[in-house]
Amino acid sequence: MNAALAAIALAPGLAVGSFLNVLATRIPLKRSVVRRRSRCLSCERELAWYDNVPVASYVLLRGRCRSCGAAIGALYPAVEIATALLVAACLWRFGLSGRGLVAAFFCAVLVAVTATDLRHRLVPNRIVVPATVVVLLAQTALEPRPEWALAALGAGGFLFVAALAYPAGMGMGDVKLALLMGAALGKVVSVALFGGLIFALVPSVYLLARYGSAARKMGIPFAPFLALGSVVALFSGHELLDLYWSLFGG
Ligand SMILES: [Zn+2]
Repeated sequence: MNAALAAIALAPGLAVGSFLNVLATRIPLKRSVVRRRSRCLSCERELAWYDNVPVASYVLLRGRCRSCGAAIGALYPAVEIATALLVAACLWRFGLSGRGLVAAFFCAVLVAVTATDLRHRLVPNRIVVPATVVVLLAQTALEPRPEWALAALGAGGFLFVAALAYPAGMGMGDVKLALLMGAALGKVVSVALFGGLIFALVPSVYLLARYGSAARKMGIPFAPFLALGSVVALFSGHELLDLYWSLFGG
C-alpha cells in the first residue's frame, strides 16, 4: 500500500523539487518567489513552460539555456530528483500520516538548504526559521512530549559552541539548521549531528591532503553534510542508536 503511495508521490515530488529550485535561487537574491515566471540567470529571458518541466527540460536542452546557451547547472535536476525520491521514501516508510508529512516537509527543507549552501554558501533564515516553527508545532501536536523542543535546543547549542570554537568551519546558519533538525528528529538528532561530522570529514581530509595548511581557509559548506546526516537519522536513527548502545552501552 505504502509502495503504491510512494510511486504516486514521485510526480508531485518532482514538482515540489522544481518549486524548491525557485526558492533556492530567488531567496538568496531577495527576489519574490511567487511573482514572475522563472528566467535564465544569464540572459534574463523568461522560460516557456516547456523549458521549465522538471528534469525533462534539462535533459532535452542538454543542460543549456535555449536562447543564450549558458549552462543551467546539474544542481537543478539534482534538486528535483532528490526531492521526489525523498518525499516518496518518507511516504513509503511512514505512510500518509502526520509523521510521513512532517518527514517529507523536513526532507524538502533539507534539499532547499543544501542547494542554497552549495550555490551561495548561505543557509537562509527565510527558509529555516519558519520551517523550524512549523516542524516544532507539528511534532509537539502529533506526539506531545518535550523531546522535540529539548532536542532542538540541545542540537542548536552543540553547534553554537562548535561555531564559536571553529568559526571558519561553521556559521550561525548551521546553528539554526541544527534547531530544525532537533525539532524534526528528537533524540536521534545525535545520530544526525555525528553522521554530519563524519561525512564532512571526508572532503576535509581530502582538501588537507591536497592543499596542506591552505585548506584551513577553504572552509567547506557544512549544511549539505548535516542534511545527509539528518536523512540517515530520519530513516535509521533508532536502529543506529540501539546498535550503539548494544556495542558500547555495557
Ligand atoms: Zn539564457
